Amino acid sequence: DRLVDAGADGEDTAVEAALRPKDLHEFVGQEKVREQLDLVLKAARARGATADHVLLSGAPGLGKTTLSMIIAAEMGAPIRITSGPAIQHAGDLAAILSSLQEGEVLFLDEIHRMSRPAEEMLYMAMEDFRVDVIVGKGPGATAIPLELPPFTLVGATTRAGLLPPPLRDRFGFTGHMEFYAPTELERVIHRSAGLLDVAIDTAGAAEIAGRSRGTPRIANRLLRRVRDYAQVKAEGRIDRDIAAAALRVYEVDARGLDRLDRAVLGALLKLFGGGPVGLSTLAVAVGEERETVEEVAEPFLVREGLLARTPRGRVATPAAWAHLGLVPPQHGAK
Ligand code: ATP
Repeated sequence: DRLVDAGADGEDTAVEAALRPKDLHEFVGQEKVREQLDLVLKAARARGATADHVLLSGAPGLGKTTLSMIIAAEMGAPIRITSGPAIQHAGDLAAILSSLQEGEVLFLDEIHRMSRPAEEMLYMAMEDFRVDVIVGKGPGATAIPLELPPFTLVGATTRAGLLPPPLRDRFGFTGHMEFYAPTELERVIHRSAGLLDVAIDTAGAAEIAGRSRGTPRIANRLLRRVRDYAQVKAEGRIDRDIAAAALRVYEVDARGLDRLDRAVLGALLKLFGGGPVGLSTLAVAVGEERETVEEVAEPFLVREGLLARTPRGRVATPAAWAHLGLVPPQHGAK
């Protein structure tokens, strides 16, 4: 339930449907992926064919689900949405595949978390639009081939490197989604504010964008919290001061760090002189589990160049001292 978590929570799921761009023109940023995908889809449409399978890789909240819906919309095709963890048995996948309509888009989120037998069934389905359904058990088991209508698989994964090469190779196109630049997030925020009927000026949008960790989902979530604050304190209008004051209440700082991030960084600087210090010691110092520090706080701190993981332990960078307004100790000073 962190405000700056890039994963979706219940409230996001409900609001996101309304905020999703509906076509490639409305989709902000990701110029390369958009241009490439535009060509793939236009060419398929010109041939009257089903689009090639598409793999989208990138961190949570960058718009993979949104893009898959846009692919379906641009192809005038229906879409079915499921995820790797939901497909535990090959039979689960066979049931989905055999009920697809011609041209349908199948969106498979977290495709790297599918079970092995399902993954192997998917190879044949992607390549030959065919699956072998196994009937019976043991020596009497028989494989019944089943023809599938042509469909477009859109797979999403946090990292393309997590996929076994045979699966990766069966995608005709791979789009790598990058974190968004602050100016792009400003455009996302203005667009969402328009849809939510919230008055916001340029400086207000920039203030929220700078705290959104390069991620549209976080930008939209922060916008909603700032809107609450503005409604109660400023007749609903958002400017720079209102945005900054609201996010101070929610403890999201100017760089997008929240309470946990600052606790980790603060302990590293104030208790351990900037490190190096072991992960377990650091975790005890902030009263959190090792995994929480390592998987929840550190990735963003590393990405921001505030913390480095070294063989001798965690080390703060000069930027970390500057960010918390502290002065590093002068090593070797006489
Ligand atoms: P996850 O992997 O966690 O499911 P995701 O990458 O599929 O995340 P989406 O659900 O597509 O992310 O996007 C999250 C939210 O961010 C949606 O509300 C969507 O409207 C918004 N969003 C994402 N990308 C863009 C974009 N390029 N332009 C405008 N809004 C965007």
